[in-house]
Amino acid sequence: MAFVITQRCCNDASCVAECPVDCIRPRPDDPGFATAEMLHIDPDTCIDCGACMDACPVGAIYGADELPVDLLRYAEINAAYFQHHPLDTDISAATAPARLSREAGRLRVAIVGTGPAACYAAEHLLGRGDVEIEMFDRLPAPWGLARYGVAPDHPETRGVTAMFASVFNRDSIRFHLNVDVGRDISHTELLEYCHAVIYAVGASADGRLHIPGEDLPGSHSATEFVAWYNGHPDYVDRHFDLSGERAVIIGNGNVALDVARVLTADPDHLARTDIADHAVEVLRQSAIREVLLLGRRGLRQAAYTGPEFLALGQLPGTDVVIDPADIDDDVAAALSDPATDPTTRLKLTLAKEYAARGATGASRRIDFRFRVTPVALDGAGRVESLHLAHNELRESPQGPVAVATERTSTVETSLVLRAVGYRGVPVPDVPFDPGAGIVPNERGRVVDSAGTVVPGVYVAGWIKRGARGVIGTNRGDAEQTVAALVDDFAAGGLVAPRRDRDDLLALLSRRCPNLVDRSGWSLIDAAERANGAALDRPRVKFTRVQDMVATARAR
Ligand code: NAP
Repeated sequence: MAFVITQRCCNDASCVAECPVDCIRPRPDDPGFATAEMLHIDPDTCIDCGACMDACPVGAIYGADELPVDLLRYAEINAAYFQHHPLDTDISAATAPARLSREAGRLRVAIVGTGPAACYAAEHLLGRGDVEIEMFDRLPAPWGLARYGVAPDHPETRGVTAMFASVFNRDSIRFHLNVDVGRDISHTELLEYCHAVIYAVGASADGRLHIPGEDLPGSHSATEFVAWYNGHPDYVDRHFDLSGERAVIIGNGNVALDVARVLTADPDHLARTDIADHAVEVLRQSAIREVLLLGRRGLRQAAYTGPEFLALGQLPGTDVVIDPADIDDDVAAALSDPATDPTTRLKLTLAKEYAARGATGASRRIDFRFRVTPVALDGAGRVESLHLAHNELRESPQGPVAVATERTSTVETSLVLRAVGYRGVPVPDVPFDPGAGIVPNERGRVVDSAGTVVPGVYVAGWIKRGARGVIGTNRGDAEQTVAALVDDFAAGGLVAPRRDRDDLLALLSRRCPNLVDRSGWSLIDAAERANGAALDRPRVKFTRVQDMVATARAR
């Protein structure tokens, strides 16, 4: 019995290092790793030891004989990968990154952010030897997008937070939560207490369409909707009108799929997750029966990943609808071409199956439309309709691009959600590239507009590379940043801090009366879990900062 990697794969590649026969691909240093949608186990080489299963932080690996029914297809998906990429194993021992020498002394690093990129950076730093870490978050709760971005019906993905919590349970790492770096403590001040600062602040601005009517009531970014249903304190009071029968989502990436699932899911099912209570109440009253997902390009360019697209077709009570006309000659040619990569093949095969299945009369439907671009939103005081241009694809040096034709159409709707990606926002006192929406950097070292390295400043995650990739993508990304930082420290390139950790704590305590430390967070965490256990839910999140602070103080 071989082991099989399935839908929840987070790509953090913890399993790769554990495999004694090196049969998991792609590996972090393989060319296809950065764009891989998941990792795969070669069934012909796997020796059934289960080491990968133990290492997986999100429970994505099963024995082939133990696959749940909805994941059975992954045996074939794993095997197909190796038909296209024959395994070339290298079981020479992987080299662990060098630990800092005693002579180098103790390294102290501030990490701004506590999401996956920040946590992987901290984990890598802890593995490098004598390191102290000061982690900051603007909110009283850590974990960033792992808490406030991952969809509530994907609880296993949130499993990475348990892994981080167990790794961080030591004095060398301190949490300074409910602290706004830039407001409560400046970048320059941080460098008085630490050798270096890593900004892992994500990409918090949502993409805009820049079309008339975009700001009408009833038009929102998916970012807002996701943060609202996940109980983010800044979004609790947002209002989403779900009284119409049709919602339209612009974009067809995984965020669009998350939102489409939440809008069509059975509220009783969602009520058993850690979704915010206010969201379940609104979703229970929802009249939405149809969600349209609009992609500006074609099926081959769709931004969703194969595993998420596969899972969508297994939702109870929901039809996934694709117009058979979209299964055109281009799709047929790709499917019959043996050179088509397995990732594209899976997505096209699924699309063909959904198109053939058609609507089965389920009470809700998720309808994919391709090659359409919104050109205006219309309505008297709120969104009532969306005008679309129909596109054709033209080749360009960047790949196929959508070009509007003269054909137009209009869709009636009272709810439009833009899921067209995220952008980084400037970090105070740190260079910023407004075009790319990132902090300019070379392998994690921040550089200024002239390309000169700014000493002591580093970035990891979406603010470093743009809003791409799944949670585990941040593991390799953070490792690269940490390698640069540790090299700079070992080479004497970082200025030693003038003040110590207790001075930092004293400063923060003076400036931030509502500071939450790790033990405060543990109380919040325990209270949320206890409130959840009483209702057979994983947790009931606090959604107000004052309630979190009061709970953290209850010790
Ligand atoms: P994304 O994957 O980049 O998708 C953005 C979508 O918006 C694409 O369909 C894009 O079309 C479209 N778009 C962009 N600008 C547009 C415009 N002006 N007009 C119309 N359409 C436009 O972004 P995302 O969905 O926000 O996801 C961000 C990252 O998080 C991705 O790597 C995603 O996989 C990851 N994520 C993963 C999960 C999961 O694993 N379950 C969940 C959520 C997010 P084009 O392709 O034509 O540009």
